[in-house]
Amino acid sequence: MNRIHNFNAGPATLPIEVLEAVQTDLLNWKKTGMSIMEVSHRSKSFIEMMEQAERDLRDLLDVPKNYCVLFLQGGASLQFSMVPMNLSSPKDIVDYVITGYWGKKAALEASLFCNVNIATDAANNDYTAIPEISTWNQSKEPVYMHITQNETINGVEFHFVPDISDRIPIIADMSSTILSRPINVNKYGIIYAGAQKNIGPAGLTLVIIRDDLLQSAIDKKIPTLLSYKALSDAKSLINTPPTFSLYVAGLIFKHLKNIGGLSVVADINKRKSKKLYKAIDDSDFYINLINTKNRSWMNIPFSLADRQLEKTFLLEAELEGMKNLRGHRSVGGMRASIYNAISEKVVDDLISFMKYFEKHNG
Ligand code: PMP
Repeated sequence: MNRIHNFNAGPATLPIEVLEAVQTDLLNWKKTGMSIMEVSHRSKSFIEMMEQAERDLRDLLDVPKNYCVLFLQGGASLQFSMVPMNLSSPKDIVDYVITGYWGKKAALEASLFCNVNIATDAANNDYTAIPEISTWNQSKEPVYMHITQNETINGVEFHFVPDISDRIPIIADMSSTILSRPINVNKYGIIYAGAQKNIGPAGLTLVIIRDDLLQSAIDKKIPTLLSYKALSDAKSLINTPPTFSLYVAGLIFKHLKNIGGLSVVADINKRKSKKLYKAIDDSDFYINLINTKNRSWMNIPFSLADRQLEKTFLLEAELEGMKNLRGHRSVGGMRASIYNAISEKVVDDLISFMKYFEKHNG
């Protein structure tokens, strides 16, 4: 079977074991005589599957009891609106930390609902570093502070949690880093993520929200389907959930547990990113400008010192079966997204190709 090396940022490579399990289950899921796509979301077997997926996710991330797990739709982008809609009122101030493309979008969306204070915007350094916290312009009493834990396009990642979490809820967009390592959920008010990177297929959005924040929306007139409280009361089943995506996500959670959980996954991810950054840093041919302290484990952008050669690089990479290495249209260059399902061997293959290309074009 010819599987390519797919470095897409999302939808992204899924574990082969999981894809094979889907294939085996496809026509007759759990002896129901139906595929998962044909099963009622109110049936016992579906509810059991969903509950198991939640238990496995809670185990993996060690989600405390006072946090609610929601399986939603609308992508991470809808969370850009749901967070301010649920947590703030028009007169409230909220703080946004902008370290790249997605954080900027989130802040813009929030400004439709309340007063957004940009605590920092790393535009000054071209989104190559997270500005020191001492330089941030934090509000006195913001309702929350929003961060983008990993900027998928810029390749900038928080490897720490801003030290304000005991006073102000931190809302983190973890779309492209969730499940890449253990995290301390207690440090966050809300964690959200679109599924199509480490969680599973597109169409599913994960929200982990601290119980007290569920109450914030109670007096607000917001559509039922956008209310965290209503969604939590209905256990994410106000209407039909993305059944297939949820099922695949459940298989992925099991798979991650089977391979040893998130500390094992973290070790592998750390090694993978370290060797790719080393290959880039050791050469004058490839460039990654991100501050070493803030470099992403999951999305590694790079360019060629001779930018004229980038087109040829991408073309030749494709011929070698390495696809989707083109950087996001807003930044250009290249980007290797090396999520959980990208094995160390795939990263080694990429590095070998990069060395080969340099030898013949450097
Ligand atoms: N936030 C981040 C960090 C992302 O990487 C993305 C998508 N790549 C989004 C938000 C938007 O996600 P969605 O397409 O699920 O709305």
